[in-house]
Amino acid sequence: METKIPFLEVSDAIVMSGAETLYWCMQCGLCTGTCPWRLVPGEASEQFNVRLVQRMGQLGLEGFESENCLFACTTCRACVDRCPRGVDIIGNIRGMRAMLAEVGTIPPSLKPIAGSLHSQGNPWSGPREKRTEWTEGLDVPAFSADTEYLLFVCCTSCYDIRSRKIAKAVVTSLRAAGISFGIVGAEESCCGESIRKIGDEALFSKLAESNINLYNGKGVKKIIVTSPHCLYTFNNEYPELGGEYEVYHYTEILAQAAAEGKISLSGKMAGEVVMHDPCYLGRHNDIYDAPRNLITSIPGADIKELARNRKNSVCCGGGGGRVWMETKAGERFAELRITEAIESGAKTLVTSCPYCITMLEDSCNVMGKQSELKVMDLSELVAENL
Ligand code: SF4
Ligand code: SF4
Repeated sequence: METKIPFLEVSDAIVMSGAETLYWCMQCGLCTGTCPWRLVPGEASEQFNVRLVQRMGQLGLEGFESENCLFACTTCRACVDRCPRGVDIIGNIRGMRAMLAEVGTIPPSLKPIAGSLHSQGNPWSGPREKRTEWTEGLDVPAFSADTEYLLFVCCTSCYDIRSRKIAKAVVTSLRAAGISFGIVGAEESCCGESIRKIGDEALFSKLAESNINLYNGKGVKKIIVTSPHCLYTFNNEYPELGGEYEVYHYTEILAQAAAEGKISLSGKMAGEVVMHDPCYLGRHNDIYDAPRNLITSIPGADIKELARNRKNSVCCGGGGGRVWMETKAGERFAELRITEAIESGAKTLVTSCPYCITMLEDSCNVMGKQSELKVMDLSELVAENL
């Protein structure tokens, strides 16, 4: 008679949920040593060990105790490049989360996110019809057959009041550079990046297929995005669902425009800035030079580099759904970055991701450092120098 070992059935299902390299792990622990959770104190840091998470997955999630065991990962990718076995660690974590999502065992703070994505097409509980409220007073054109680029604005910059400044600055800067762009509007949905990382594969497919049908119907060929998270998903996850587009982060378009002399930057708000490389622009999309070239195209602007920059940049803490999960003050990655930025001597910390802005600015305020350091998206720096 065939004997069934229950945990093997679960771990097989995890592999089928995307954790295809789960058994490649040889438990060497290099990933754990690389993980930014080793840089901060606190409960999540004590409970999350990515090597043990791989083992937990191999054993069919035996030992899963709290959300910190699995949902602490920000999908920053720092560990992936170091793994000697080429394990797709983020894919493995996503597969394990998918198993838990199927039975409804996701952290309570993420449940409203999934609900809002289902009902309104965005994670911020904003009504669908208000997706373009940020455009008020800007006269942003609608995408048409004559438009070169669709501008896809991240849900965060559509609904979050602070983040709307990024969308406005991107529009102002693209317009100054003479770029042909338009938006689709309220029919559009979230790109689905975060919800896929959280593990809700069905919801991701629903959002992505809705956008792909919309864009293909309108003849979209090229897309400019305001967030590197959207860039990752459009480039890596939409093609297999039938959405094949040329996708650019706005820093690439503006850096190119500056190099070709199509945008004139004044330097009136220039000076020394220190740069934080977003994980999804850098490690996930390999874009390091475009934002730097854009900064140095501003007359009088100078970049100070953080010691941990480019491939070694430390995550802001907002990816993988963490932007919606509470991390106690004193235990946040963003606090490390704020301290490092202040120590650099620069007065302005520039980055180019709406999640990074949310996490870094919040930490700067909580630390009471806002008089010492201004946190800006690069689009805002460009718009201030037009
Ligand atoms: S670095 Fe790779 S092989 Fe080593 S424990 Fe981590 S996932 Fe496993
Ligand atoms: S992706 Fe980043 S946060 Fe997640 S386990 Fe790897 S290093 Fe840690």
